[in-house]
Amino acid sequence: MPVTAVSGSASGIGAAVCQALRAAGHRIIGIDRANAEVIADLSSPAGRQAAISAVLEQSAGVLDGLVCCAGVGSSATSDIIIAVNYFGVTELLDGLADALARGDKPAAVVIGSIAATHAKPDQQPMVAAMLASNETLALEHANALGLSHVAYASSKYAVTRNARSKAVAWAKQGIRLNVVAPGAVETPLHQASLNDPRFAKAVREFVAPLGRSGHPEEIAQVVAFLQSAQASFVHGSVIFVDGGMDAMVRPASF
Ligand code: NAD
Repeated sequence: MPVTAVSGSASGIGAAVCQALRAAGHRIIGIDRANAEVIADLSSPAGRQAAISAVLEQSAGVLDGLVCCAGVGSSATSDIIIAVNYFGVTELLDGLADALARGDKPAAVVIGSIAATHAKPDQQPMVAAMLASNETLALEHANALGLSHVAYASSKYAVTRNARSKAVAWAKQGIRLNVVAPGAVETPLHQASLNDPRFAKAVREFVAPLGRSGHPEEIAQVVAFLQSAQASFVHGSVIFVDGGMDAMVRPASF
């Protein structure tokens, strides 16, 4: 039975991923702040290390899969967004890479976002700091700018770049790694943006060509495919699951 760790397992997309992977026969080690096999706070280095140690203990050091879903949206503060969405993902990937290398046809997925393609995040100083693994500086830049939606887009852009670089490096060990970039999906995170007066109008008006938001299960099915043997040659890809939003906004980029 494949053993897969899933961060953000208690809610939304992560909970749907756990359900889909359990249905596909995986044993799940969920990581979240509550209601999970591993209770940990991924916003701090100590919390991330505790999560890694607990996953290694519960998996006996051998993982077949890892899905990094834990994240916070633009209604969180900029520093928490960077800490959870970037460092809470990259440190889990780094800390669990050896366990994945010991697994059977190992594969990992990072949940990015269509937001990674917005607002030219590649030009943000916080992105350079994230990519240089300088958490203190990244948080300083993010707080100084004080625009949480830019911190969100930047965190998702940087984590996607990190994952694509890792995919090339991890190929030698036979670990596949892909990014799933959802559009708007009906979860508590999305609802928090709709409830936030700073973002409600923009979020309401940014509608996918398919005319609706997605359901967590629709993201989870793609993740389950990427974690399966059917996806054995899919590696380093960014897969938009967004009802056509990316095609609408960037028809010339692919
Ligand atoms: P959600 O709020 O339903 O789930 C997020 C989960 O992450 C929660 O269970 C939460 O407890 C956990 N989490 C947050 N901070 C944590 C921390 N410090 N330590 C441990 N766990 C923590 O939201 P969701 O929409 O399912 O989000 C899942 C992922 O999908 C996120 O990375 C999000 O950025 C991404 N995403 C969501 C949407 C959307 O519209 N919902 C769109 C694009 C990308």
